[in-house]
Amino acid sequence: MVDFAFSKEHEIFRETVTEFAKRELTREKVKKWDRDSRFTPELYEALAKAGLSGINLPEDCGGQGADSVTTGIAVEELAKYDFNVANLIIIDNILSGGIIAGYASDHLRKGILPDVAAGKIHLGIALTEPHTGSDAANIKTVASREGDSYTLNGEKASISMIGVASYFSLFAKTQPEKGARGVSAFLLPIDTEGVETYSFDDFGYRPLRRGGIILRNVRLPQENLMGKENEGFKIVMRQFDYSKTLLALTCIGAALAALDDAVHYAKNRMAFGSPILKFEGIQFRLVEHYTRLEAARLLCYKGLWLRDKGLPFTKEAAMVKWWVPKIAVEAIHDSLLTIGNPAYTTEYPQEKRLRDVMGIEIGDGTAEVQKTVVARELFGREFIPYK
Ligand SMILES: Cc1cc2nc3c(=O)[nH]c(=O)nc-3n(C[C@H](O)[C@H](O)[C@H](O)COP(=O)(O)OP(=O)(O)OC[C@H]3O[C@@H](n4cnc5c(N)ncnc54)[C@H](O)[C@@H]3O)c2cc1C
Repeated sequence: MVDFAFSKEHEIFRETVTEFAKRELTREKVKKWDRDSRFTPELYEALAKAGLSGINLPEDCGGQGADSVTTGIAVEELAKYDFNVANLIIIDNILSGGIIAGYASDHLRKGILPDVAAGKIHLGIALTEPHTGSDAANIKTVASREGDSYTLNGEKASISMIGVASYFSLFAKTQPEKGARGVSAFLLPIDTEGVETYSFDDFGYRPLRRGGIILRNVRLPQENLMGKENEGFKIVMRQFDYSKTLLALTCIGAALAALDDAVHYAKNRMAFGSPILKFEGIQFRLVEHYTRLEAARLLCYKGLWLRDKGLPFTKEAAMVKWWVPKIAVEAIHDSLLTIGNPAYTTEYPQEKRLRDVMGIEIGDGTAEVQKTVVARELFGREFIPYK
């Protein structure tokens, strides 16, 4: 049997998040966070009070332990009001928090995650390096084991949450000659001796503050190895399936909000004696975007539903990650054009949505790389174009 309805609990939860977002993520606040490139302690406090800071973290670490569909609802609704707040939740709960929850020692999980759920600290994930992004197995940062500790040397670049996060889930080669099978996951406290950071000046996604991390003879105790040695690549890829699906939902949230703004404007804007929404040129443009976004949204929730059932969803995750950021950017662009000249100012949120969502056309894997994953899932490993 197929059931396309959300449960009553899910619907009530969606309303609660919407009420929260309307109240706490006002246009003035969102603009200020973007302008200042930082969120405020008040926002962190409000998110924690609403149970959103640790929505997907385990209950034994102070989180809500929500299922994947519930987490999807949270990030989709938040993204209608601020794309970046929704992305903060994904980094704290899934991209880094999920790795710490699943693979760090009990001592570290329980020492760190309750503070994340309480909104007191934040997390980040450090995989990308200056010379390699898509080809992530080609990272050069090395972690050499010496007795009961590791020494790390290398550089991470294009890392979100620089100057915000206290801990990073960081990936380094423990056996460089083994490619993807020689990567391990570490927990890096950002204040460790030998760590230096720098910042990028991005045009979107600004409060999430991208930058780099330089590691010079950074010593981490054995305990900071997460999971087994050389299993880091599998750990991060598993996490990416989940984050990619949620990121797609944040793109949908932002795009739907942009379209709704455009509809509201078009109902009231007069041209040639009638509201512009009466013109088929405007209607068809908006209808096409709503259609695509609704189909994409179903695929996202199917992926999350599969995850909640413990079933594979790698194909669905890669499908939505290549497709959704692209159609979301197109929808936001057209919603900007529908409003016309006022939307070309910073007074309207369309330009910010466009700047923010474009980041996710690259972050967490580009469209081309996702298509290679879909091809592998559809056609088999023998058709992977490279090793
Ligand atoms: C907003 C934002 C936030 C980010 N946050 C983080 C973070 O927190 N942590 C982190 O580790 N990283 C982060 N990243 C980095 C991100 O994951 C990488 O940028 C991404 O994986 C792509 O790598 P690259 O930019 O180096 O592009 P490259 O790998 O250099 O690719 C350049 C171009 O070549 C194409 N290409 C590459 N390989 C192929 C192929 N086989 N076939 C066809 N085309 C190909 C790509 O699609 C792309 O168009 C972030 C990036 C952005 C933009």
